[in-house]
Amino acid sequence: MSTVTTVWILGDQLTAGHAALRGHERRDTRVLLVESQARARRLPYHKQKLVLVWSAMRHFADELRAAGWQVDFRAEAPTYRAALEAHVRRFRPRRLRLMDPAEAGAGARLAATARAAGIADVEVVANDMFLSDAASFARWASGRKTLLLESFYRDMRRRTGLLMDGRTPAGGRWNFDADNREVPPPGHVFPEILRFPPDAETRRVMRLVARDFPDHFGTLDGFAWPVTRADAERFRDDFLEHRLDLFGPYEDAMVRGERALYHSLLSPLLNLGLLAPLDLCRRAEKRWRQGRARLSSVEGFVRQVVGWREFVLRVYRHDMPDYARSNALAADLPLPRFYWDAETDMACVREAVQTLLADGINHHIQRLMITGNFALIAGVHPQAVNDWYWLAYADAYEWVVTPNVLGLSLWADGGRIATKPYAASANYVNKMSDHCRDCAYDHRTAVGERACPFNALYWDFLARNRERLAGNLRMRLPLAALARRPRKDVDAIRARAADLRECLRRGERV
Ligand SMILES: Cc1cc2nc3c(=O)[nH]c(=O)nc-3n(C[C@H](O)[C@H](O)[C@H](O)COP(=O)(O)OP(=O)(O)OC[C@H]3O[C@@H](n4cnc5c(N)ncnc54)[C@H](O)[C@@H]3O)c2cc1C
Ligand code: SF4
Repeated sequence: MSTVTTVWILGDQLTAGHAALRGHERRDTRVLLVESQARARRLPYHKQKLVLVWSAMRHFADELRAAGWQVDFRAEAPTYRAALEAHVRRFRPRRLRLMDPAEAGAGARLAATARAAGIADVEVVANDMFLSDAASFARWASGRKTLLLESFYRDMRRRTGLLMDGRTPAGGRWNFDADNREVPPPGHVFPEILRFPPDAETRRVMRLVARDFPDHFGTLDGFAWPVTRADAERFRDDFLEHRLDLFGPYEDAMVRGERALYHSLLSPLLNLGLLAPLDLCRRAEKRWRQGRARLSSVEGFVRQVVGWREFVLRVYRHDMPDYARSNALAADLPLPRFYWDAETDMACVREAVQTLLADGINHHIQRLMITGNFALIAGVHPQAVNDWYWLAYADAYEWVVTPNVLGLSLWADGGRIATKPYAASANYVNKMSDHCRDCAYDHRTAVGERACPFNALYWDFLARNRERLAGNLRMRLPLAALARRPRKDVDAIRARAADLRECLRRGERV
């Protein structure tokens, strides 16, 4: 049967009730899904991410078929263009519909590819996988030099009605962050994380990825992500039942051997479209209303999902393409070797990168305060760092990785979204984690062979960027602390930092 309309669904648009399918009859519509090998080679993406996306696409195709849609699944296609041409030869569609991708500029690019493949009538429909909208954001952002989360977040709470009692925030406060800075006591037992052993389809994709992408980042051995909507929902419910209540208090903590603590690990599934953000937050709110999760945790979680997640998307869409090139601190170091192989004596960094290689994920504080903080204070080139986060994480897509890395983590955007650089010494790591206890380095010292590299690099970062940061109110205290240090101490610290940066530049072990 010939196809009248082709609906092209991308790998990160596996949402139920896809916007481009709406209003179409099943009999004269065919859904196209493409696994593009060229797209997968753009960066050496984590092998688990490739398996997650492709296996989820294959299971999504089954879900569509079961719902009565005709599906043309193009497995192992060399490029999008080749897949579209083959699709056109076979089905001769009269038009193609596509939902606007989250990636800036991709809608126009993909529409052009479809036209070049022989479909003249191409329509890009609005993306409804997010809760915020571009026009309201543009009005709010217009004329502002800095864009801060808080007023955006409050507006999102009002618009969605989440955690609202009429016009007032539930519990009388918008933000319970101050209640959320605890460290778990030694010996605290964390809930187990559900694992989903790969089914036959996922194992097929694992073999394919192992064969065609052997040099990509990470390992496939422990692949245990949910790849169907039903399993994603089980994973979500397990988080709501067993981890949400303590999500808040331990949100900023780091513990050796614990990849999740009380975090949800839901970002890969949200970003694929297997879970919907509003539904997820409503379920979290319900737990609080039923007295099964504390408000500080539920508010903290909702702030991440309808606050930060929506906020970074809007900043990215609003400020691209220039945003991706930003480098306000003129950082120029190449990415250190240990970001690829975890071969470092720094226990906190080793733990983060080892977990990442094994599971394709780190929690927020590891990303921000360990790997991100190290890159910031060492002065690693922002685009090299951004590429690494993009390729190494199972939940990374340009729209979410770029503002988090360049804005939140590296301050490369000059403070567009963060009130100060998140630069920290070993003092912070020691306070929020148990890593320093068993580290080869001494977290109390800044000078000498065994002094923690974070310390010398932190003071050196302040000294190097003193003038650039002088006008920032929130940097006054650290800069004053630097100014109080005796000159000869600062010189010794900066000499140690220069040695470290030279070792990193030469690719030597630190
Ligand atoms: C340097 C850096 C890079 C990051 N790269 C990514 C990325 O590639 N993809 C990604 O989804 N998140 C990224 N984040 C944000 C955040 O770290 C992850 O969303 C979070 O760690 C995912 O784990 P989780 O699902 O257990 O999160 P939880 O702590 O359980 O939080 C719940 C949800 O809130 C959302 N969320 C929380 N913080 C953010 C944020 N800052 N930006 C966007 N969404 C947020 C996520 O969807 C997350 O699943 C990055 C943060 C930093 C500092
Ligand atoms: S001593 Fe330094 S390198 Fe070692 S764990 Fe602590 S902060 Fe990390």
